Amino acid sequence: MGVRTMARDREETQWTDSSQNLPSFDGFRAVLFDIDGTLLRTGGAGVRAFRRTAALWGYPGAMDGVSFHGRTDTSLARQFLAGVGLPGTAEECGRFLAVYGFLLDEELSLGGGELCPAVPAVLEALESLPDPPLIGLLTGNVRIGAVLKLAAHGLEHRFTLGAFGDDHESRNQLAVVARERVSTCLGTSVPGSEIIIIGDTPADIECARAIQAPCLAVATGAFSVEDLRFHQPDWVVASLEDLLSSADARRV
Ligand SMILES: [Mg+2]
Repeated sequence: MGVRTMARDREETQWTDSSQNLPSFDGFRAVLFDIDGTLLRTGGAGVRAFRRTAALWGYPGAMDGVSFHGRTDTSLARQFLAGVGLPGTAEECGRFLAVYGFLLDEELSLGGGELCPAVPAVLEALESLPDPPLIGLLTGNVRIGAVLKLAAHGLEHRFTLGAFGDDHESRNQLAVVARERVSTCLGTSVPGSEIIIIGDTPADIECARAIQAPCLAVATGAFSVEDLRFHQPDWVVASLEDLLSSADARRV
């Protein structure tokens, strides 16, 4: 495995030499990205929207102290409902998350978010491979939340498919859903071993393991390289910028 070069807007994008123990993406059928802490940071918009929704339900402060890292939106909604003694039915969760989506849109419009380093360049490099993989999402965000967060940075049209927080409460089950959607999209049964999952939390590493998919952990969220390495992903990088050659990374 060596350095590969591909055209990109009359410039050339190069993956870092994969002898540095990084994925080459050769032979993989799909690459699935987490959103928060992996592709972008919302500057707290998601957490604020959840807290405002809890307040509208009459329980301000009910989401204080709750860890959001790697969680699905549905599991967060159920935790809130259970915590305040309300029934965690699918209907009530749906109502809560619909209001959350409305408030998330408002919070995102205030700005303050940012893309993680080198995200557009990495997407372009994947799209430019001779036999490009499907590029998709594996995220705990509900669909509307995912679209709103990506649209804030013009990325909402870059992903062919996804598994979302409203598909299942369990992130590990989302990986199963994602693998099935990759298989449906390609018209053949695709094993997890042919899908790379990229995420920023131990929950991403665990859900990749649930379908025997290799995992690239990226320390642009709340967890350090050392934290993530403890959970034994297949690869760990400080940021996605590390996937690109130093010459290309300087341009992003
Ligand atoms: Mg994340």
